[in-house]
Amino acid sequence: MKFTFYNPVKIFFEDNCVRNHKTIFRNSGSKAMIVTGKSSAIKCGAQEDVEMVLNDLDIPYLIFNKIENNPSMESVEEASKIAKKEGVDYIIGIGGGSPIDAAKAIAVLAANEIVTQDLFLNQFDKALPVIAIPTTAGTGSETTPYSVLLSKEKETKLSFGNELTFPKYALLDAKYTYSLNLEFTISTAVDAFTHVFEGYLANRSTSLSEQFSLEGIRKFGECIPEMLRGNFSSEIREKLLYVSTLGGMVIAMTGVTIAHGMGYCYTYFKGIPHGRANGLLMAPYIQYNYPVSKEKIDRSMKLMNYKNVDTFLNDLKILVGTAPKLTVEEIGKYTELTLMQKGSITNTPNPLDRKKIYRLWERC
Ligand code: NAP
Ligand code: FE
Repeated sequence: MKFTFYNPVKIFFEDNCVRNHKTIFRNSGSKAMIVTGKSSAIKCGAQEDVEMVLNDLDIPYLIFNKIENNPSMESVEEASKIAKKEGVDYIIGIGGGSPIDAAKAIAVLAANEIVTQDLFLNQFDKALPVIAIPTTAGTGSETTPYSVLLSKEKETKLSFGNELTFPKYALLDAKYTYSLNLEFTISTAVDAFTHVFEGYLANRSTSLSEQFSLEGIRKFGECIPEMLRGNFSSEIREKLLYVSTLGGMVIAMTGVTIAHGMGYCYTYFKGIPHGRANGLLMAPYIQYNYPVSKEKIDRSMKLMNYKNVDTFLNDLKILVGTAPKLTVEEIGKYTELTLMQKGSITNTPNPLDRKKIYRLWERC
């Protein structure tokens, strides 16, 4: 047995955790920046809770609410300039993975004299503390050090993260996910599943990460029949949030594999949300890795109460739909862009090269 484990995020998973743990906000600094998207933080009630606590504690704060789905380098740059100018000393990310990832990037840019492109070198030695409050049950960004940003120059998504970019606190309250529509609920849930599942198959999986994966896969399996019925009760929402945060802990240990590496092309060029993009790739991904990961894949299917891979993929197809048709040119272009995702490639159990990635895209 051999593993390294480091996850310094203090997680609170409970009803009303924002209002119940005011001291977190007092201990994090003296001036906050709330980083969020257009409207979800308000719609779900999380922003109101946070503002109430900050006002109660007399902590001054600014709100930056321009984070896009799949955050751009430009918006984190703009927010970090404001944070620096205003003397903000901690960041509160409220939203799905996009605002939480953006919060991490802003926390680094505001604490260092570097330009946005330098983030991806992972060479910085400071970051402001981040409090992460997820409003989707999907990315698990609240328990990972990763921040994924859209690069217009490279026509793909690039990520960075090191020991400094884990949030300091994660406040998880499933009621903040109630207002998420059906499409994003399913897409984000599938993202959470791919984290626990890809992490399970990953070359970098460890005996410890596997335990988190197996728990997440089992819980996700309990949610599938309800998701197919369109039943998103508070109990299911809570379970999905649990899978999501477990998924974050898994990929913080293992990293993701080629389904994520390929999925970025669907998101960048076809506008397909991140989780759905990964879900659309599951059939070729499982087929490709089955010869070397048969035991783990079969065990996952059993844990989710499926007789075999095909019955699982049929249900997944009902949830995520069918993949868009690709032209020969698109397949070529996506192959070249996927080759940039080196970490995902080397982490995939069945070895990959240009030709094999091309074939995978053909199968899509
Ligand atoms: P998202 O892009 O953060 O949000 C998707 C949409 O859902 C947005 O329109 C958002 O509204 C809305 N929304 C969020 N919460 C809501 C709520 N409670 N009620 C109503 N609407 C709500 O989606 P996401 O899937 O959570 O995050 C995706 C991003 O995370 C991608 O960029 C992906 O690459 C990244 N990611 C990061 C990690 C990691 O480890 N850091 C892992 C996987 C994925 P607003 O416009 O108001 O925000
Ligand atoms: Fe993901």
